[in-house]
Amino acid sequence: MVSTKGYAAQGAHEPLKPFSFDRRDPQPRDVQIEILFCGVCHSDLHIVRNEWGRTIYPCVPGHEIVGRVVKVGREVRKFKEGDLAAVGCMVDSDRVCPNCRAGLEQFCDQGATLTYNSEDKHTGGVTYGGYSKSIVVDQDFVLRVPDRLDPAAAAPLLCAGITTYSPLRKWKVGQGQKVGVVGLGGLGHMALKFANAFGANVTLFTTSAGKVADAKRLGADDVVISKVAQTRWRARARRDPAGGGACKRVSFGFPAPAVGRILDWWDRRNSGDARLLRRTRNRLRYRDDNNRQNQRSL
Ligand SMILES: [Zn+2]
Ligand SMILES: [Zn+2]
Repeated sequence: MVSTKGYAAQGAHEPLKPFSFDRRDPQPRDVQIEILFCGVCHSDLHIVRNEWGRTIYPCVPGHEIVGRVVKVGREVRKFKEGDLAAVGCMVDSDRVCPNCRAGLEQFCDQGATLTYNSEDKHTGGVTYGGYSKSIVVDQDFVLRVPDRLDPAAAAPLLCAGITTYSPLRKWKVGQGQKVGVVGLGGLGHMALKFANAFGANVTLFTTSAGKVADAKRLGADDVVISKVAQTRWRARARRDPAGGGACKRVSFGFPAPAVGRILDWWDRRNSGDARLLRRTRNRLRYRDDNNRQNQRSL
């Protein structure tokens, strides 16, 4: 066993505390990685606080892992000692079911093994994530990180990055298209940067005026402060109840569940773009079904 240290939550209301545990000895197809950086994903917080009701304690979160390969099993061909490598949200699957064969391991018939808080088939225990000093993972679930990338900045690509990159690539977002991003959070800032890099015209919807400057810096062409938009529409509805049809449609909450209604509002404001906005809305409904494929192409 490889003894290591990490930070674990011992309960839903406990802060993370130092925690010592063992990783398995590298098997023939395993890669042992010394973790250099790990992003903080909001899922980490949900799981640590047991907000999805399935947390096993102690819980070591973290699935945006970048590190240095320190040891490889004898059958490993994809990595060698000293390589920069990364691990995202999954560390195993059965590899033989139709979904795995199609490169969609996240939909594995047996259930993919997530990087933390998942049954660990090797140890019989639970998987522990990247808030730790080292990890041992099958080479098929380890990603190469180009040396020219800043490893700290690359870490968020492993979850927030792929989650937004995948639908943007799936729908071939590029020049001449408009993209709306709701919220400048972990995913939002990635979506904004990707859509901008792909050449799209990007509008950020946010409730915080304090995020306008950051949004512009990250590449937003336009920023809509959605609270202001809502207030304006309500005021207009009071002035002109007969014209309230559109206004009722913009009595949106925030954030995610109201995406469709925000886009309806945007649609009415720019009526010439109705077709484009319909397409955009469908894109936002798109359930990412090829994360894994795109993760490979990262
Ligand atoms: Zn995540
Ligand atoms: Zn499978």
